[in-house]
Amino acid sequence: MSFNIAIDGPAGAGKSTIAKRIAKELSYIYVDTGAMYRAMALYFLRMGLDAQDHEGMAAACNGADISIRYVDGEQNVLLNGENVTPYTRSEEVGNMASKSSPVPRVREKLTQLQKALAAREDVVMDGRDIGTCVLPGAQVKIYLTASTHTRALRRFKELEEKGITESLEEIEADIADRDYRDMHRDISPLKKAEDAWYLDTSDMGIDEVVEAILDRVAQYQKA
Ligand code: C5P
Repeated sequence: MSFNIAIDGPAGAGKSTIAKRIAKELSYIYVDTGAMYRAMALYFLRMGLDAQDHEGMAAACNGADISIRYVDGEQNVLLNGENVTPYTRSEEVGNMASKSSPVPRVREKLTQLQKALAAREDVVMDGRDIGTCVLPGAQVKIYLTASTHTRALRRFKELEEKGITESLEEIEADIADRDYRDMHRDISPLKKAEDAWYLDTSDMGIDEVVEAILDRVAQYQKA
């Protein structure tokens, strides 16, 4: 049976940085489920669909084939065979992802892909509904969070490093909006799984968080 680590939490909590490090330490596969929602959102944006047009999105979904591939250990998301990873990180795509992710057909499609991957491989999977819906049986579940301001600052720096300029105020407002939508949608809202470990990283460095989680995994494997 494969070993699954589920990491959920709001935007900019450091999930991907932490999950990547954990996956590397354990030689597991890192699965960034947000990137899949972003690829789907990019598809909708390219089609010129309105963010409110849930029916249009549900219908258009069938034409989007999303898959993932690993190149030098890095996850690439393919949209109908095209590697769209470089186009998925902008705030525009992130916002569209948060607006299109409540569409049931979108969630069904991506959840299926995620479950199949985790059944085959040892994974560290991050997202919003991994511990609650996608991998309810995951051996280790973490709910990673930090204050809205800390998360906005982190996102600002991440974007800056990639050469994308957005104002900090705008990012903070976007993050607050996105959290609200992700936590209040009807289907698979972002929430801590009952058996998840709640970790507030506002005052923690990356190494400290990684070590704490690796400890947790080691404890589980010893028990
Ligand atoms: O994590 P990231 O910012 O890349 O996610 C983009 C959006 O995709 C989130 O705001 C959320 O609406 C959606 N998402 C989701 N379920 C997941 C991962 C992401 O609904 N498992």
